[in-house]
Amino acid sequence: MSNVRRGLSSLNVTFLGTASAQPSTTRNHSALALRLGGDVWLVDCGEATQHQIQRSPVKMGKIQKIFITHTHGDHIFGLLPLLASRLNGAGGTADGADDPRAHVSAESDPPLEIYGPLGTRAYVRNGLTYSHTLLGAPYVVHELRFPADPIDGDYTSLPPHPTESPHGRNIPQINGVWSDVYRDDILSVSAAPILHSVPCVGYVITEAPVPGKMDPGKYIPDLKRTKTPMSVMSRLQQGESVELSDGTVLHGPPKRPGRKLVILGDTYDPSPIADIAASPDLLIHEATNAHLPGIDENTKPDDTFEIVEARARSRGHSTPQMAGAFARRIGARKLVLNHFSPRYAGNDDVDEGSGNVMTAIAGLAGREFKGDIVCARDFMSFDVDFSLNG
Ligand SMILES: [Zn+2]
Ligand SMILES: [Zn+2]
Repeated sequence: MSNVRRGLSSLNVTFLGTASAQPSTTRNHSALALRLGGDVWLVDCGEATQHQIQRSPVKMGKIQKIFITHTHGDHIFGLLPLLASRLNGAGGTADGADDPRAHVSAESDPPLEIYGPLGTRAYVRNGLTYSHTLLGAPYVVHELRFPADPIDGDYTSLPPHPTESPHGRNIPQINGVWSDVYRDDILSVSAAPILHSVPCVGYVITEAPVPGKMDPGKYIPDLKRTKTPMSVMSRLQQGESVELSDGTVLHGPPKRPGRKLVILGDTYDPSPIADIAASPDLLIHEATNAHLPGIDENTKPDDTFEIVEARARSRGHSTPQMAGAFARRIGARKLVLNHFSPRYAGNDDVDEGSGNVMTAIAGLAGREFKGDIVCARDFMSFDVDFSLNG
């Protein structure tokens, strides 16, 4: 299970949906998958996310945790059907016939974990209850409560669904953040508010320090001279110091920082997360609106960048320049933009102009940020590597 994971053999990000507003044939609603060794964590779960998973290398059965940035439909409407599939909830029996799922205990297994703002638990509970959905395994919802939220209670008068674990936490914000909402030996997750039209959060996922680069040649002469078993090499690799029989002390390489990902929901200003988001290997930031005269034929003739930015802010969203400025501010190594207007196709075959549009959007972000910039497409997938200076 996750909490006894020995190390992160791989860290991969796969975009499952990159559209704002409505989906298109080439962009689905928001969702992305992190593949962490064998486990899968999702961030957001827009409508039809399970269809996208079926078309991707992500394995539904490996999903252990789902992090919701905010409860707007384009980020959460796919959650109930995904739970029904992931936790074997489809089907049903007629009156009098026994359904084994009716006897599943909410405490029977480690539950599938869902994190999100106030309303996430009520949404799941009400949706499962009113659709008569039975699940074959339990789930739990941990809510990140804002200062204005009630600190207790479930935000619904319905009793818990039979497979809802009673151990869902209501996590208070302390000093403006939710620190370590999840932590194991290898990974920790913290969250902080980001400004949008409704309560919205960003997530910071940090890998624990990893063993440093080892140069065995540095140690072998001392080990041979003192006839020390080569097996101490594994202790050195972990960064330990080893004293040899002649008193010589060998020091393993210092540990390197693990990888750090910052994944934001919709926002017009993510400043409140800036402190805990410092120096990530990867920042994922929305770029819903862009001013692209001469490139986007839908550009209104009187629009200027300032008008487009003001319009984006008023709707709770960002331009590529705003995303680039935030990437620069926190010292990100790589910026990936998502949550695009669905009229910008996510596929070169559909619209010859879309490649140009995406190049132009990356160029706008590049006015503010000099690191690597990528515009996400559905099913785009890449590994997050260690920084070169690590
Ligand atoms: Zn959205
Ligand atoms: Zn939204």
